[in-house]
Amino acid sequence: MTKWVYDFAEGSKEMRELLGGKGANVAEMTRVLGPERVPAGFTITTEACVEYMKAQRSEPEGMAEQVAEALDRLQEMAGKTLGDRDDPLLVSVRSGARESMPGMLDTVLNLGLNDESVNGLAENTDNERFAWDSYRRFVQMFGNVSRGIAGEKFEDAIKAAKDQRGVSEDTELDVDALKELTQTFKDIYAQETGEDFPQDPQEQLRHSIRAVFDSWVGNRARAYRRQNHIPDDWGTAVNVQQMVFGNKGDTSGSGVAFSRDEVTGAPEPSGDFLPNAQGEDVVSGVRTPRDISEMREWMPEVHEQLMEILRKLEAHYKNMQDTEFTVEEGQLYMLQTRNAKRPAQAAVRFAVDAVSENLLDRAQALMTIDPGTLDALLHPTFDPKADFDVLASGVNASPGAAKGEIVFTAADAVAAAEDGRDVILVRPFTDAEDVAGFHAARGILTSEGGKASHAALVARGMGRPAVVGAQALEIDLAAKTVSVNGTKLHEGDRIAIDGTKGQVTTDDVPLVEARVDENFEEVLRWADELRRLDVRTNADTPEDATRARELGAQGIGLCRTEHMFMAEDRQPKMRAMIMADDRDSRKEALAELLPLQQEDFEGIFKAMAGLPVTIRLLDPPLHEFLPNAEDLAAAVERARLEDAHDLPRLERLLERVHEISEENPMLGTRGCRLGILYPEIYEMQVHAILRAAKAAAEPPHPEIMIPLVDYEHEIEIMRELVKSIGDQEGLEIGTDYTVGTMIELPRACFVADRIARFADFFSFGTNDLTQTALGFSRDDVESKFVPTYLERSIIDRSPFETIDKPGVGWLVRLGAWVGREAHPGLQLGICGEHGGDPESVVFFHRAGLDYVSCSPFRVPIARIAAAQAAIRYPIGRWD
Ligand code: PEP
Ligand code: MG
Repeated sequence: MTKWVYDFAEGSKEMRELLGGKGANVAEMTRVLGPERVPAGFTITTEACVEYMKAQRSEPEGMAEQVAEALDRLQEMAGKTLGDRDDPLLVSVRSGARESMPGMLDTVLNLGLNDESVNGLAENTDNERFAWDSYRRFVQMFGNVSRGIAGEKFEDAIKAAKDQRGVSEDTELDVDALKELTQTFKDIYAQETGEDFPQDPQEQLRHSIRAVFDSWVGNRARAYRRQNHIPDDWGTAVNVQQMVFGNKGDTSGSGVAFSRDEVTGAPEPSGDFLPNAQGEDVVSGVRTPRDISEMREWMPEVHEQLMEILRKLEAHYKNMQDTEFTVEEGQLYMLQTRNAKRPAQAAVRFAVDAVSENLLDRAQALMTIDPGTLDALLHPTFDPKADFDVLASGVNASPGAAKGEIVFTAADAVAAAEDGRDVILVRPFTDAEDVAGFHAARGILTSEGGKASHAALVARGMGRPAVVGAQALEIDLAAKTVSVNGTKLHEGDRIAIDGTKGQVTTDDVPLVEARVDENFEEVLRWADELRRLDVRTNADTPEDATRARELGAQGIGLCRTEHMFMAEDRQPKMRAMIMADDRDSRKEALAELLPLQQEDFEGIFKAMAGLPVTIRLLDPPLHEFLPNAEDLAAAVERARLEDAHDLPRLERLLERVHEISEENPMLGTRGCRLGILYPEIYEMQVHAILRAAKAAAEPPHPEIMIPLVDYEHEIEIMRELVKSIGDQEGLEIGTDYTVGTMIELPRACFVADRIARFADFFSFGTNDLTQTALGFSRDDVESKFVPTYLERSIIDRSPFETIDKPGVGWLVRLGAWVGREAHPGLQLGICGEHGGDPESVVFFHRAGLDYVSCSPFRVPIARIAAAQAAIRYPIGRWD
């Protein structure tokens, strides 16, 4: 018989897949801190959830019996029983997936209360108010979670009760009010479900476990999984745990505590707590919590115990911890611990401090950094020299600065982003429904909540700047206005926020680009020592090249020369070249472009002195440089009516546009096909590159790259072309420059051995390779069917973002393997967008490539990702 249920005492942190993150960590914590610090309980496994889903929502065989037995053991350990009329046991029923999904899955608290046990709880705790408050919370949560009754129904009833008694806070409702409210809640329950509120605790438990399982397949959780690439078939575990109470009076309380400052990474523990409150009050953001340091005055001994526990847990897990705790009448209980999600600056600071404290070695420390979050360190902040008026201040919840127009709903944020507008999402507080708005907005601003609020956690996780708990803001969602100290702002007004400092302003503060700080420099140095992959950059201008070099690029992996022709002063010359009717006039136009190209290359060689520079010869479909055919047709029409003298010129132009235009330009006359048809274009470019090389103060390392090769004869011809220009320039192929190709078509991967005979290097162009291998248009699919594919779990992320390992990845492995077999010294790199995606970088490391190349700002991310790849896979190859 499969074991579906584990007592906390049976689990460990290694059992995360089976017990979920929370279950595994609570079990581990029970061992490390001792059972007196962790309320007892048991975990129903993720496998049980998976079976439940497979069986169309029916519990696997044996689960109910195992739950009953585990409950018996729990009752025995606690010395109390569920539903007992004298001294009842209450339990929480919480979800716990393998990866944490904050706020996405359901939880039921205070389970075990009914019309009888509520009196037992009141007598036993000598706190009637507490007992009735717990009961009304339970009816509310159970109704909402297990039976889907809308939260507002209950909230409205609370508001009515408060209005009736003329009080403003929930805590001001007395016992009678709470008793009445509980009855109202039960009436709501009966009305909505057609059934009485269940009095049998076993039935309450059964329903709640099912509700947690069901929440795994709910829309909120699905959307979250898609965004965070969590597979649908993991399932969630369910943790049933004895309740302890933080709302039993002045010597009780609840809080969240981080073993270090979760925003800066500084060594002092941080967090929030609220006296006389349950955990949900702290994290919901509805009441503004107090700083953890104030606990010292409130209960010095408990504060000291908590600090000691945080140190112990951090040393045990060898990672910064994020914990939840409850103090029940002076006794401290730890409810949960997990590795803290943290913004980049805290992550790098922790890594550096942990090494200097001998907590971790460098490789271990590097592995604690999520390279995906490092973006935030590389993003703008307010110019420190700028003079501006602070309109309001709040909690610095997620670093980075942002400017944009005010919007008040997630839907408006999404719509604005689709219009290409920058917006700041302004809300009193946020919940799971707002997550899409976080993606769309440049920054988040809330008037309530602390560092552990939903808005803070989600924004930090995504690397969006956020200021929360800016209490001076009075937000009127209905009127779409926000009033701050006498200023009234409307939707569409511009504001700026600084999530690093917690400031809000209406001034147009200049933003400055991020500078890599000392801690970041330090971890990057370690990464450089540990990685095997080189990291280059994709850069088309000397400025980009310089910036990338500052960020650690070891050369250029892709210089797209067509971008150099897009500049306004060059477009007409480029157009004249393309429109030329014969070779001679084309050559004339090219002669004008040559010095400009040479100048570009000189700048780039200078910026990359001493480092390799891969320059790709012209690639794009020619039509990108042509005048718009419709506009031109209209001009012809006008000229005809006016009998204008330049009618023949315009007509010829239109004819030429039609000649050049193609149905599928991405699959048309681009890449080396252009070079074969119009060799003079490539000849001009090679002259420009090699002359720039000769002019450089320090001899550069130009690598001339032929794009979009399918056949070995293409590269053979192109290599010959480049070499003949090299000879004219008096430079030696293989010594003064090399010639290689992009591998970006499936055929090229299959015949990589043939192509490799004519190439000094391959650079995988995974953008086009993805497009052509999958038959997905790289320009269209992400706004068309990819969202549906994600929703339907056909794919778990866009193949243009992370390499499609089994398909496109296989082609890369094949091309690398057969290419190297035919040409052992062949240099292998990748310059598609995937070169800056951490997960893809690990793949390329394992595929045995020599380097990845990515946009300048992603260079540091790729350096860390490459080091992590080398730490995880020291051999670095599959074979
Ligand atoms: C590629 O196709 O991956 C590539 C880098 O080239 P481009 O994006 O310019 O087509
Ligand atoms: Mg390409």
